Amino acid sequence: MSNYSIQGATGDFEVVIGLEIHAQISSKAKLFSGASTEFGAEPNTQVSLVDAAMPGMLPTINGECIRQGVRTGLAIGAQINNFSVFDRKNYFYADLPQGYQISQFKHPIVGEGMVVVDLEDGSKKEIGVERIHLEQDAGKSMHDQHPELTYVDLNRTGVALMEIVSKPDMRSPEEAGAYVTKIRSIVRYIGACDGNMEQGSMRADVNVSVRKHGDPLGTRCEIKNVNSIRFVRQAIEVEANRQVDVIEAGGTIDQETRSFDPVKGETKSLRSKEEAHDYRYFPDPDLLPIEFDDAYVDAARASLPELPDAKRARLVGELGISDYNAAVLVAEKENADYFEAILAATMDATGKDASSVATRVANWVIGDLFGAINKAGKTIATSPVSPAQGAALIALIEDGTISGRIAKDVFEIMFETGKDAGVIVEEKGLKQVSDTGAIEAIIDEIIAANPNQLAQYRAGKDKLIGFFVGQVMKATQGKANPGVVNQLLKPKLDG
Ligand code: ADP
Ligand code: MG
Repeated sequence: MSNYSIQGATGDFEVVIGLEIHAQISSKAKLFSGASTEFGAEPNTQVSLVDAAMPGMLPTINGECIRQGVRTGLAIGAQINNFSVFDRKNYFYADLPQGYQISQFKHPIVGEGMVVVDLEDGSKKEIGVERIHLEQDAGKSMHDQHPELTYVDLNRTGVALMEIVSKPDMRSPEEAGAYVTKIRSIVRYIGACDGNMEQGSMRADVNVSVRKHGDPLGTRCEIKNVNSIRFVRQAIEVEANRQVDVIEAGGTIDQETRSFDPVKGETKSLRSKEEAHDYRYFPDPDLLPIEFDDAYVDAARASLPELPDAKRARLVGELGISDYNAAVLVAEKENADYFEAILAATMDATGKDASSVATRVANWVIGDLFGAINKAGKTIATSPVSPAQGAALIALIEDGTISGRIAKDVFEIMFETGKDAGVIVEEKGLKQVSDTGAIEAIIDEIIAANPNQLAQYRAGKDKLIGFFVGQVMKATQGKANPGVVNQLLKPKLDG
């Protein structure tokens, strides 16, 4: 539980947040036309006659978008509505050629659901989802192409969006950030949306109100189109403080639509409730209601992969990985996929079962690999070390060919050169020395060369065993098998 509140002169205020997340559905074609949805194309090259709203053009539903909406609903345990309706939401804007957006109003495809979010103190909280509906995206006005004119790019016009509407269940910027993180993780796991917030495939309208603890809900303001998790958190912080200041100065909050400027660190009014659009919703006469049977829903459910919360529970329960490490591994789908792949490859390479190597594999992925990737500014997708190569390195530690210490050096070379661990160990002569005869000879030399330390050890200074182990490792450039060294050294020191 987070105990976030804002102190005003007259007491503490609670912050109430509800989010409307717009997630672009990963489909090749748009919601009602066959035009491509590929990101980054030349302006106005992906616009069908339907998207341009030419007279007489009729929308045709893209079945894949319906299926992804249903899968998303199932992934958050939501009620799926076997009957839903597309409505026209009427407004006039240059980037909306139809003069209306096709959306869902009274009968959305997905009803109430819930996600569990993970907070920084290790606690969890349930956040309710009110509904998910499907709608078309609008085009884009470009204000930076000409000194006096605004240009319009219609490539995005008609692209399928899911609007995921939360209940006003969040109480802090952290909870809101954790909620967006969880939704993003889930839609990416199931492949319904790529979650790429930099490219605008996911953006959030952030509703914020404040109230004294125990009071009814306050009047909210809606901050439009916030396009990163960091900005969601910042916008809430800034907006909640603004509202508290207004109330403390004796004012009241007007229900407004606002925008967030991350550079200035402030929100500013776009329009008040009085200026709000009257959308004059009505069922789109060009489209029949969407109806499907339970078998369709069951098939969508059967197509879902293991979701992040379930995967985390399995990594802990079946593989014995710590809860913290499991949370790190499952948060991003690419990381989870990498872990599953390297674990399978390690089992193959060592013949050991999953639970006996999983903890060491997890430690290696999180400590060594993620460490190097972060330092190099790469991502797991651009990792120079593949799961098979990582597994081969871990297998060399597991079978005693190299020590854990040497493995770190080998990994550094692998990361830089992309070479296989076995090749590096061979080329550099890094094989661990486990040959007792060779190690014994070195131990004898070191004991003979350090009579003072030997005397002190025998006089009761036990800790000096560390000194002798260190000398042996130094003499073998770290290649002596530490287990063998310890085993041979003690009886000799004890005399
Ligand atoms: P609208 O249809 O006008 O957008 P909704 O009732 O659907 O309004 O709410 C939109 C979003 O605002 C939802 O995510 C909801 O949780 C949130 N919300 C509603 N009331 C409040 C409030 N008092 N404070 C903060 N968020 C709120
Ligand atoms: Mg709204």
